[in-house]
Amino acid sequence: MLPNLIGSQWRVPADGAGALPVYNPATGEVIEQVPLSGARDVDAAVQAAGHAYAAWSRTAVMERVRLMFRFKAVLEEHVEDLAAIITRHHGKTLEESRGEVRRGIEVVDFACGAPTLLQGRTLRDVSGGVDQDLYRYPVGVCAGIPPFNFPVMIPLWMFPLAVVAGNTFVLKPSERTPLGGQRLAELFLEAGFPEGVLNVVHGAREAVDALLTHPGVAAISFVGSAPVARHVYETAAASGKRVQALGGAKNHIVVMPDADPEVTVPAILNSAFGNAGERCLAGSVAVAVGQAADRLLDPLQAAAAKLVVGPGDQAGVQVGPLIRADHRDKVAGYVDKGVAEGAELVVDGRGEMSRPGFFLGPTILDRVTPDMAVGHEEIFGPVLSVSRAPSLDEAIAQANRMALGNMATIFTQSGRSAREFREQVEAGMTGINVPIAQPFAFFPFSGWKGSFYGDLHVHGTDGIEFYTRKKVVVTRW
Ligand code: NAD
Repeated sequence: MLPNLIGSQWRVPADGAGALPVYNPATGEVIEQVPLSGARDVDAAVQAAGHAYAAWSRTAVMERVRLMFRFKAVLEEHVEDLAAIITRHHGKTLEESRGEVRRGIEVVDFACGAPTLLQGRTLRDVSGGVDQDLYRYPVGVCAGIPPFNFPVMIPLWMFPLAVVAGNTFVLKPSERTPLGGQRLAELFLEAGFPEGVLNVVHGAREAVDALLTHPGVAAISFVGSAPVARHVYETAAASGKRVQALGGAKNHIVVMPDADPEVTVPAILNSAFGNAGERCLAGSVAVAVGQAADRLLDPLQAAAAKLVVGPGDQAGVQVGPLIRADHRDKVAGYVDKGVAEGAELVVDGRGEMSRPGFFLGPTILDRVTPDMAVGHEEIFGPVLSVSRAPSLDEAIAQANRMALGNMATIFTQSGRSAREFREQVEAGMTGINVPIAQPFAFFPFSGWKGSFYGDLHVHGTDGIEFYTRKKVVVTRW
């Protein structure tokens, strides 16, 4: 059973509702048990973080940064170790896991810039003999609630920026992929951070709700599905906390008739089937504009059918398993629904379901329309819908009909089409000739509309704004 980290102690939870199995999705074997901590465990973690806050918030910035550089060095030494852990309990390929670790470390790199990022500003002589100075202070104890699909990268979006700004932190890893957060916490202690700066409480809904309403927690960073993002936002805001809550996605890839299939086909495969489609930036609907479908469909179909499905730690595998059998069955259910609603099944990956583990192969449905379930609901698996649109305007209108607005991307050789798309599409992360429009650590990451609740996005200078509060001092001598 995984222990919680309370202060410097690894502890078995005191209360809560038992435990859940953690699986290797490539085999279906149970590899660990994760406790479902309760309100008392959450309280112990928040108390430990609150206790540590007094000294940590007053620790010199250069000392906090020195420890952050050490953490960065320790992470660099453990890239392979972390990648293996991700693949073992999430299922993605080792190459994808290494990529995830790298993107996570980039946030630590960014956090090492705290001496610049935490600066305030000054205006002398704002009126006769009066100066005004803006200082940044930490907000207090912050909590992070990540989803299952990036067990290392998403916790790293959260606690490094929070703690380098002088906050202390309680991390509640996903109960389906808790081993990433667990290992990060061990490495964080190895880097030399004082006890209580980072605490870990394992669990699910009960632990989350205890964090959302705990009076000792000042800020909540959440990433997960859209309905839970809304619940987190509403509940934590009602308790007076600042909240950033990133939700689900239904991302559209618009393909113009002038797009080069040699570029577009591999990009769509990467976008739709990378991470087995379990990615908030996954392309879910490819909208073929005008004649684009004629040049796209055959090569896309042929290439998708050739993708190698299998355990993520095997060389040559391109698509790993899904996270759980019930999730895989839900995704497969969407294929049936799509066909029942009139879509054409052009690549069927359901043959892979007979393997041990939680597999589903790449699947493509053609002639999908936005009113079909597969045309507007998040599927979160290796199922690509292809829809048709007579014009760019119509393609953008299709994307903008979605309740969710995380990412949208266009493939074209026309600057005019690209610019029009950039201006009109309602998505917080927009791509032009890229499969995945992922902002780097020094830019803000988040969607629009139902994909995001809050105002400050994660990482980049938004992250610094989120984890600090400002004080303005007005001085006359
Ligand atoms: P999820 O919403 O089921 O779980 C996310 C977290 O919330 C977990 O830590 C879980 O323990 C907790 N949780 C789950 N149900 C809860 C409830 N009813 N009350 C309180 N807490 C609850 O999401 P998931 O299945 O782990 O992750 C996949 C989802 O996350 C997808 O919808 C995906 O699009 C989204 N996601 C979004 C982004 C983004 O940047 N917008 C990034 C990654 C994943």
